[in-house]
Amino acid sequence: MAQQRKRRRRSAAAPRSALGAVIFLIVAALSWAGSEFGWFGNVTLGPKPTPLPGDGLYVSFIDVGQGDSALAVCEGETLLIDAGVPEAGPEVVDYLESVGVTELDYVVCTHAHEDHCGGLDYVLESFPVGTLFAPYTEFDASGSFTHFENTAAELGIDITVPEPGMEFTLGAAAFEFVGPVSGWEGDVNDSSLVVRLDYGSDSFLFTGDISSGPLEDCAYIGGYSLDVDVLKLGHHGSRTSTDQGILDLTTPEVAVACCGLDNSYGHPHDEVVELCEENGVLLLRTDRDGDIMLHSNGAEIRRVDAA
Ligand SMILES: [Zn+2]
Repeated sequence: MAQQRKRRRRSAAAPRSALGAVIFLIVAALSWAGSEFGWFGNVTLGPKPTPLPGDGLYVSFIDVGQGDSALAVCEGETLLIDAGVPEAGPEVVDYLESVGVTELDYVVCTHAHEDHCGGLDYVLESFPVGTLFAPYTEFDASGSFTHFENTAAELGIDITVPEPGMEFTLGAAAFEFVGPVSGWEGDVNDSSLVVRLDYGSDSFLFTGDISSGPLEDCAYIGGYSLDVDVLKLGHHGSRTSTDQGILDLTTPEVAVACCGLDNSYGHPHDEVVELCEENGVLLLRTDRDGDIMLHSNGAEIRRVDAA
């Protein structure tokens, strides 16, 4: 979609004077930069806007230490993906309340690991929830998932297991489950639900902890486009989830690693950090940046909270 914008701007009226030519060149250069780099850098507007205004799409990567939690809000509709470990549940709820969330239209549990589903039971108990997604309705091997599953049942919230290709609107944005499309018996990480979120020409990909092979399958077997502006790196920036092939498929301008400071896994792995540098991808990290809030107006993405 960025390329469409580029083509449109290149077909703008030709200059009629020397000054016009200079202005034309400046505008053309800015247009090129805008089309190639939809990311317009950090802007320090002060604390995050609260409550969130109704304009555009806001995507937050909530700092839950070593774990994942992301919130998307568009025109008052809300999508929460994961909520970190059990101890992070109250932190996630505090964050949601701080940006004016009073109910969650959609909640996604990407997979059964504690650092993703652990805090969700606290979230379910704190807000009315519309639709709750998970890759399965039962998972015996995870105490956290069992707790989550039992809490949902006690609250009368059904767990929906989405098929790849299911799409939902989020205000004027839309999200789609694009994976997993292949088996995951060997690794629970590979059961992670993969979500693509689109708003105008801006796009985000949330990958849970899925490994690079099964993520590639979403494109090569599932036929889904993984070409996005912002990539939530799989598995906290692990080398098992991100390689050159993944960056070639996703072509992000911004990558986000959700990880704890000095975590024992070494996330994000040095190889992934270097790959981001080599590919000109701006890497944001919750361990260093804290909570990260991005705003899309459908054409440009900015970081809108103070770093
Ligand atoms: Zn994880």
